[in-house]
Amino acid sequence: MHYLDHAATTPVSPEAAQVMLSVLTEQFGNPSAQYPLGRDAKALVDQGRAAIASALDCKTEQVVFTSCGTEGDNWAIRAALHQNRRVGKHIVTTAVEHSAVLQCVKRLEQEGYTASYVRPDGEGRISAEAVLAEVREDTAVVSVMLVNNETGARFPVEEIAAGLKDRPALLHTDAVQGFLKVPFTAKSLGADYITLSAHKIGGPKGIGALYIGGRAKNTLPLLFGGGQEAGLRPGTEATAQIAGFAKAVELRAARKEEIFRHLAACSAYARERLGGIPDLRFIGPGDAPHILSVSLPGYPSQNIVGELGEQGVCISAGSACHRGKASHVLTAMSLDKRTAAGVVRVSFGPETAREDIDALADALLAHKTKRFPML
Ligand code: PLP
Repeated sequence: MHYLDHAATTPVSPEAAQVMLSVLTEQFGNPSAQYPLGRDAKALVDQGRAAIASALDCKTEQVVFTSCGTEGDNWAIRAALHQNRRVGKHIVTTAVEHSAVLQCVKRLEQEGYTASYVRPDGEGRISAEAVLAEVREDTAVVSVMLVNNETGARFPVEEIAAGLKDRPALLHTDAVQGFLKVPFTAKSLGADYITLSAHKIGGPKGIGALYIGGRAKNTLPLLFGGGQEAGLRPGTEATAQIAGFAKAVELRAARKEEIFRHLAACSAYARERLGGIPDLRFIGPGDAPHILSVSLPGYPSQNIVGELGEQGVCISAGSACHRGKASHVLTAMSLDKRTAAGVVRVSFGPETAREDIDALADALLAHKTKRFPML
């Protein structure tokens, strides 16, 4: 199999899986229990939090575990709106956020909030000026992702944070696709909330974290219950997932530079190989090294993904094509219909080898040679 869909999810690293197994079967205590098995479980949670905090270069108490990136996005936006409830009911976001942000904001609009959606340019870029131009006196929260999951475009979160310094609006960034893929720390970004998810970096599904720092205070709890996670997100801690997440972060953080270089080399090699396919277009600015978006204009992406999948080459039309309609990201970029319908996303991880990219290039070329354009 040639797995080239690391932006969708990643294999759990064997070391992380090993740690999880031992937590599930041996160190299985409830972190709230008062005997050694419980205290050991509590220590695991503390160590896990310390690992995430170290990768973000922030304080441990600024990291709260969540069940996934979607939860972090929803919670951060609602928490910011709650904190700024006297400021107003206006939200600024972009038209190309992940649905975890977009659908949350759409729901909030139904609840009486108003929202402005900043559109990208034709390459999928968002400028800080365009975002800041939408910020008003009554803007309570600005939510702009760090790396777009479809195009790999990196957005100027630092500049947006600087522009909001003297404004009441709080800043949230969904860094699910950016964490340990592009360099940043909590301080360098300057956002008040940062969403992370484990399964994009060799950790398990069903666990994420929310950084709550900067000007965020008196955070609205997500749930009410037993007081875990400083009362902000109660519920018995998912100890195995937390330990697996932490292990994945430690492993990737320790090899950060090497992995950045590897991903960049994968992207460069893929550009070279795929660039030889007639009419193929590269989509987006190619900022993040792990995501490469390309189009075979006229060749529907569902067919490409289906056919390549049969040959063991896993790529995604994923978000790029939802029930036959071009994605909201490609639509916002104003790509012509033929190009948008032919977009597929290729994404790399530390395990990606040249042979995977060769298999992709051969399969794409064969698809194009064998089929007639349908659009
Ligand atoms: N945000 C972005 C940019 C993503 O790519 C994803 C996952 O695809 C999410 C949020 C949601 O994360 P999770 O799957 O952990 O809910």
